[in-house]
Amino acid sequence: MISKKIEKALQGSSAIRAMFVEGKQMAEKYGAENVYDFSLGNPATPAPAAFNTAIKELVDETDPLVLHGYMENAGYTDVRAAIAENLNKRFGTKFDYHNVTMTVGAAGGLNIIFKTILDPGDEVIVFAPFFGEYRQYAANFDADIVTVNPDLETFQPDLADFEAKITEKTKALIVNTPNNPTGVIYKPETMRKIAEILEKKQTEIGHDIYLISDEPYRELVYDGNEVDFLTKYYKNTIVGYSFSKSLSLPGERIGYVVVPDEASDAEDLIRGIEISNRTLGFVNAPSLLQKAVARCLEEQTDVAFYDKNRTMLYEGLTKLGFTCIKPEGAFYLWVKSPVENEEEFVTAGKKYHLLMVKGSAFGCGGYVRLAYCVSPETIQNSMQAFAKLAAEYQL
Ligand code: PLP
Repeated sequence: MISKKIEKALQGSSAIRAMFVEGKQMAEKYGAENVYDFSLGNPATPAPAAFNTAIKELVDETDPLVLHGYMENAGYTDVRAAIAENLNKRFGTKFDYHNVTMTVGAAGGLNIIFKTILDPGDEVIVFAPFFGEYRQYAANFDADIVTVNPDLETFQPDLADFEAKITEKTKALIVNTPNNPTGVIYKPETMRKIAEILEKKQTEIGHDIYLISDEPYRELVYDGNEVDFLTKYYKNTIVGYSFSKSLSLPGERIGYVVVPDEASDAEDLIRGIEISNRTLGFVNAPSLLQKAVARCLEEQTDVAFYDKNRTMLYEGLTKLGFTCIKPEGAFYLWVKSPVENEEEFVTAGKKYHLLMVKGSAFGCGGYVRLAYCVSPETIQNSMQAFAKLAAEYQL
């Protein structure tokens, strides 16, 4: 007797998670070293030593009633102030603690934003390919996802398609740059045009459209690339950040949401987001984790580690004849399937113990995603398997 909604969700259950389970089963059968699992975006570098030190010091030094107690649903004021100050220093913004709400990762952040702004039947626009869970998060609030096509050369969004898809029902757009699954960073020119279109359409349809910037890969960029803070382009921007990838803490579930004062109805948004944090059952972000990340805001993940993997995988696959989009950030490689139906290609890969995720899971068939947050040995050893796969498709 489960609900109709969950029945539906079970049918469409995450392809990535299913692959994760399959990978574990294959590793048991063939030995982990003989399975090349590129399915999951689980960081492959340890959390910075400073994070463990912070946890130990906090536990040793802080009154446990304070450290493990309830606080405001938006999180500890000193932690939120430290994050606001850090953002101001890096991006020239003018936030203070009240603009920041601590969240249970990016997923928790997106759900509390959605709960705050969405009514049933509202539409949220996403640029394909996109992180597939957006579908479920929107479904939680009976809202619909509307997909905008990419430019297949650059994987920047097709902005004519974007403009055409904005309707009276449009409440928000999600932008995820650096992007999962393509690794592409949206160009400043693209962001400027997106902002222009949003401004124009807001006036036409007579209500605000929020831009939700989902940015767990903000610091994971290569070749000196930088990612702008998107509030600079468009005032109705709400930022969702996570420490899952930047500090390798995905299991700890910690992140934050920023609502700038210039956003329409900012005070209501902030209060709504705080209430939603409580009523969705998160109550507040984990207390110890809040305090620990506040001490690690200057810490960085080992970008050079991912960069080496990126080069090895991109060059290796390109040499074998595969067509790949060169990632500018995040830790994913987006590869064109040699056959239109990429599920066939994913199945063929399994024969050689290669685990790839089908592009349709990201709303863009004909491609596969490889997560290169793995050991360099996995990439090195996988090359003979990719060579067999290339030979099978006569590349
Ligand atoms: N958004 C994107 C684009 C992601 O890639 C992920 C995780 O992979 C999330 C959100 C969820 O992140 P978190 O683990 O912080 O909830």
